[in-house]
This record gives sequence, C-alpha cells and structure tokens, in this order.
Amino acid sequence: MSHISCLISSPGRSLSLKALHYETLQPVRIDVVDGVISAVVALENVESDSALFIVAPGLIDNQVNGYAGVDFSGDQLLAEDIVKATVSLWKTGITTYLPTLVTNTPQNLIRNFRILSASLSHEAVQSSVPGFHLEGPWLSKLEGFRGCHPEDQLSLPDLNLLKSFQEAACGRIVQLTLAPELSGAMELISYCKDHGIVSAIGHSNAGSREIQDACVRGTTLSTHLGNGCANLIHRHHNPIWSQLAHDQLIPTVIADGHHLTPEELRVFLKAKGSDRLILTSDITFLAGMPAGRYRFAGAEVVLTEDGMLKSADQECLAGASLPLLKGVENMMRFTNCSLGEAINLASKNVAAVYGWKDRGSILPGMRADLLILENNDGKLKVKKTIIKGKIVFKTEANE
Ligand SMILES: [Zn+2]
Repeated sequence: MSHISCLISSPGRSLSLKALHYETLQPVRIDVVDGVISAVVALENVESDSALFIVAPGLIDNQVNGYAGVDFSGDQLLAEDIVKATVSLWKTGITTYLPTLVTNTPQNLIRNFRILSASLSHEAVQSSVPGFHLEGPWLSKLEGFRGCHPEDQLSLPDLNLLKSFQEAACGRIVQLTLAPELSGAMELISYCKDHGIVSAIGHSNAGSREIQDACVRGTTLSTHLGNGCANLIHRHHNPIWSQLAHDQLIPTVIADGHHLTPEELRVFLKAKGSDRLILTSDITFLAGMPAGRYRFAGAEVVLTEDGMLKSADQECLAGASLPLLKGVENMMRFTNCSLGEAINLASKNVAAVYGWKDRGSILPGMRADLLILENNDGKLKVKKTIIKGKIVFKTEANE
C-alpha cells in the first residue's frame, strides 16, 4: 500500500492537497489561495489502494534557544545564523517559533536582541518568527531552581532594563519568564500585562501567595513546569502544586522523555485538560549535534547518545536537544491521547496564548502553515512543511 499526499496543483502560493485531517483522520481536500487556506472540504471517495498521509497545522515552539549549531545567546551571533536555524527547524515541522535568549549580561542581551530584530529582514525568519522570548536574568538564584542559568548574572527585576531589552528587540519580546518571588517582579508583571507581553513563571521557588499575586497581575503561563525546580522540595508546599492548581496558568512542558516522567505528563494533562497544556522543546544549539562535551551558557555540558543534555558538574539538565515533534510522539505514548490532541498541544494551544488568530489550526482564513506527516505506529515523520502556502521542506519522492 503506498502512501500519498496528493498534491493536485501548486501554482505560486496557491495549492490544493488531499490528506487525512489530523483530528478526524478523515480524508479532506485543503485549498490554499495566496498563502491562506480558502477551503477545507471533507472527501468521501478516496482511491482504495492508497493511504493518505496526515495533514496537520505547523508546529509552534515557544522556547528555542538555538538550533543546528546556532546559539541565539552566543557572543558571535549573526543575522544569517538565524536564517540557518530557521530553515533547519522547518525540517522538524516547526513553522513558527520564539527565539529565546537566556540569562546573560545586559550587553549580550541588548546586542543579541538587536541581531534577532535585524534578522527579520530575511523573509524566512519573518515568516516564522512573530516575536522573542526572554528567560532570565530575573530568576531564582537558589541551586536547583536556577538550573544552569549562570548564578553571577542573575539579578533582581529591573523595569528600565526590561525596557532597554524591549527597545533593542524593536518591541518584539512577546514572552518574559521570571521568578515572581523576587523583589520588583510584580511591577514587571504588570508592565508585561499592559504592553502585550505574556509573563510566565519559571525557575522559581514562589509560594502560593506569590503565585496568586502574579496571576492577579496577569501572569498566564508556567514555563517548563516541573523543571527549573530543585530535586528536593516540600511535599505539600511547593511551586508545582500551586501552579498546577491555579486555573489561570497554562503550563508548558518538555516532553522529551528526560525532563519529566510519563506519570508527571499524565497528571499535568489530567489537571489542566488538553486545551490548557503546551508542549515546548527548550532546544539549544546542540540539538542535532553528535554526543559529547560542549560549552553552553558559560558552563561545560554533556550531550548523551539518547539526547539528554546535562551539566557536567551539577545534577541538572541544561536544556534539551530533541525537537518538538518528539514531544508530540511521546505525549501519545505516555498519556494515550490522540494524535489530534497531541498536535494541538504544540500548535493550536500555543497560538491561543499569544492571541495569534492566523495560525495554529486548519481553518479557512488562516495562514496555510501545514505539515504533511507520515504516522508509522506513533512514529511521526515530516514529509512536507508548508508555510503560507509555500513548500519550504519536503522529503524526496513522496508525491
Ligand atoms: Zn529554563
């Protein structure tokens, strides 16, 4: 039986394709005109001797520290590097992502936000990057909670500094991850709320009162819940329970099989429901590189054969190296959720948090950011990546 994703025609950025809808697994025809989905039509008669591939919305990753050898926080970052990382991410099914800068000196952050902004003059970056994510430098200094963020560069929240970062980023910082228990954090959270920046709790040992206060001021996200947390915490009073219990907080989770156990992912999904959980990758520039020892964020890290990235001298993970699609596979395997639910955790739910109404679902009027996927017993393979109706990646001989 041959698999086809029947591309009927593709003049310019208009095309029409037949595939199985990722939620219903029923055959559909999707028409695209000028990069926008114009129709989604249910099909009744499909050739019986062929099985169609799956069509899904392009994946959206809100925490990408770098990729394919490009470190967005690196001292040598160039705008061209961001193009290279973007094009490489397309191959993994990512059509939208937030380049993420982590704790560093103010000079480094300002320079790299300027470079990220400049890279938006390249069409590839502009089509895939709607904004940036800043994780740090206003995080807990406590061992375990700070993870691998360099202790000597962590500081107390500083609104003027945030404004300088946002100016360097030409107003494109759309997410700030911070620890709300730090002095001055609430002022920043209110500023974020008033200026369209999503604030997120992360690398934090906040008590339930501080988490409640952050939510009142507008915090809506929990960054990689269950990580950025000490190994030993109070069994009753800890930031994980408080964030899980708060209805306003949508957690992002790293479902790479290393950062959280299958049981944690099952509990998080049950607690929040399939429309209020988000998959993120937290991948670094080491993603896709051979196993070995590397320098990352000023420290020595080890990348293992099975994709675990950990600090060489502390018992903590140092970011991730497995792409978001792996998290989609794992969620199906670990939680028994459907393919549609798992993909929505990495597309529809993410778009909703930022209020992006043009992407994240397959509906008329939305950008034609689409994936053609092969599903082999839960192992997903990207056959085509389509952005605004243009095929930007395809595996050979699959039409
Ligand atoms: Zn982190």
